[in-house]
Amino acid sequence: MNDRFSTVFHDADLCVVGGGLAGLCAAVAAARHGAKVALVQERPMLGGNASSEIRMWVCGAQGKNMLETGLIEEIMLENLYRNPDKNYSVWDGVLYGLARKEKNIELLLNCSVNDCEMEGDRVVSVTGWQMTTQQFHTVRAKLFADCSGDSVLAPLTDAPFRHGRESEAEFGESIGRGVRPGDRKTMGMSCMLQARREDRPSEFVPPEWAARFTAEDLPHRVPDLASPLENFWYLELGGDGDSIADSEKTRDELLSIAYGLWDFVKNDPSQREKNRFWRLDWVGILPGKRESRRYVGDYTLTQNDVEAGGRFDDVIAYGGWPMDDHDPRGFRNTDRPNVNYPAPSPYGIPYRCLYSENVSNLLCAGRNISVTHWALSSCRVMGTCALLGQAAGTAAAIAARENCTPREVYASHLKELKQTLMDDDCYLPCNRRAVPELTLNAALTRGAEALRNGLDRPVGEDDNGYRCKPGDIIEYRFSEPGEVRFARVVWDSELNRESMPRVGSRPFTHNMMCNKPLHFDDFHTPDALVRAYRIEGVRSDGTAQTLYQTTANHQRLNRVPLTGTWSAVRLIPQETWGNGDVHLFGFEVG
Ligand SMILES: Cc1cc2nc3c(=O)[nH]c(=O)nc-3n(C[C@H](O)[C@H](O)[C@H](O)COP(=O)(O)OP(=O)(O)OC[C@H]3O[C@@H](n4cnc5c(N)ncnc54)[C@H](O)[C@@H]3O)c2cc1C
Repeated sequence: MNDRFSTVFHDADLCVVGGGLAGLCAAVAAARHGAKVALVQERPMLGGNASSEIRMWVCGAQGKNMLETGLIEEIMLENLYRNPDKNYSVWDGVLYGLARKEKNIELLLNCSVNDCEMEGDRVVSVTGWQMTTQQFHTVRAKLFADCSGDSVLAPLTDAPFRHGRESEAEFGESIGRGVRPGDRKTMGMSCMLQARREDRPSEFVPPEWAARFTAEDLPHRVPDLASPLENFWYLELGGDGDSIADSEKTRDELLSIAYGLWDFVKNDPSQREKNRFWRLDWVGILPGKRESRRYVGDYTLTQNDVEAGGRFDDVIAYGGWPMDDHDPRGFRNTDRPNVNYPAPSPYGIPYRCLYSENVSNLLCAGRNISVTHWALSSCRVMGTCALLGQAAGTAAAIAARENCTPREVYASHLKELKQTLMDDDCYLPCNRRAVPELTLNAALTRGAEALRNGLDRPVGEDDNGYRCKPGDIIEYRFSEPGEVRFARVVWDSELNRESMPRVGSRPFTHNMMCNKPLHFDDFHTPDALVRAYRIEGVRSDGTAQTLYQTTANHQRLNRVPLTGTWSAVRLIPQETWGNGDVHLFGFEVG
């Protein structure tokens, strides 16, 4: 630290370092459960690899009905509602707005954590340099969550971490066969490109420092701009070096190949004609990182756990992306850039991967959790990282309230952690949410039992939902008039999103786009979602009073505070965003 610059001190229950999707979801979850949170992010915007600076779209578990819900679905639905053009600045604004609206979050942007103070095995404070104000910020907190991707707090706290690919001998992972013990290779980093099709042709003059390519130089890597899934992820380097220390020199090389590739797209005789109308819109200058340090927690998730479906008692999130391993040589490798090893969807991820084994008040979430390289190749996708963040933040709020460590949350508060996550609309495979007594003891006079079965999405052959017409009534009638404090409703937000607009011939469900075709249809709130509904309280004389009504709902999970003593409570869906029928998964009162 330098005495010539001042230091601003902050006190919090939880300090989250890193504002990617994992860090953002950790901060919001903790804040909503009563913790005072400082969210320290070194970039000017939130979202990490998903932000407008790097522009990776969010992927997650594959397969029917496997879309991640909870905070990440809240973000996605907010984006569909506010951002029909899939404009990256608007997306940044959606993420920023989520943090801003939480009164319990103090947001420190442009602030890079590079120091920490310890007392025994506990972190007491972290300090970062804020470049816009030329000030240091020191955050003292009960708990810390490292969501920096690169695990900046690991070397600062002496927390053990892994870096590189595990050999088969270490955990018995067959994909590691042939990898030497002590291997430090990782997946690489990439600078993305974005293009758009226009109705007039354009030229491109490459900078003199751009690489030069012919089709022979680009095996398995010739861009196909007409495909909505072309996002240039294979422009990847740095996996065979040091994915932290070499970042700047790798960036220079990545920029040279990014511009060189665009030169090929626009000027190579084999490409020129078909790409005449495509214009370069954007080149990322900050490389997105896939892998570096991973914490060692009380449990290390492996390839074998993933393949076995991750049936852990302490499951707090799930993955379902294949084990998508990238060759560390990246672009320099002339073979295919990645290999997909199958993973079940879903597989469970245990809570014990989310805290350090030796720093007693340190959690982690995102791509730096306690997993092997081979498990990371699946669970690193951002839908999964967001679930991990929500779980870490929820655990931190419990630990802050109970004045205990994350490990003690595992020992003594696991049931509460899981129930809270499910209540907040996170799906935990093989688990069922407890439903409030008031709902269980009521007579469901109109509606279906599935609405109070503790499952809020189709599982296997069971829909776990109820279909009705707009204007139909769903009613709980109590044996005696009872005080009602809230209603919880889960609408269908189309977990398969097949009704979304198509780009070319394929449905496009990603949160953002890379290459914009000409005149694409607007994206919009899912047709199935209910936009207008009413909740009524019924008195003992049979008269009804409207307790809540909205005509602008665009979220799947609705938690509505209610007051009063009622003989019955009714939910009356009135209009969807497009469908004729109404479909919902949960209606409870408590
Ligand atoms: C090119 C590329 C393609 C990918 N493709 C996909 C894909 O298609 N879909 C998908 O879902 N995932 C994809 N991934 C993986 C995914 O992007 C990452 O695994 C994911 O972003 C990790 O999330 P995170 O929140 O842990 O980290 P990040 O998104 O990296 O966020 C961490 C944040 O912490 C900040 N930070 C770092 N150090 C500090 C510090 N000292 N102080 C304060 N803040 C700090 C960083 O600036 C960053 O904003 C891809 C990754 C790359 C690089």
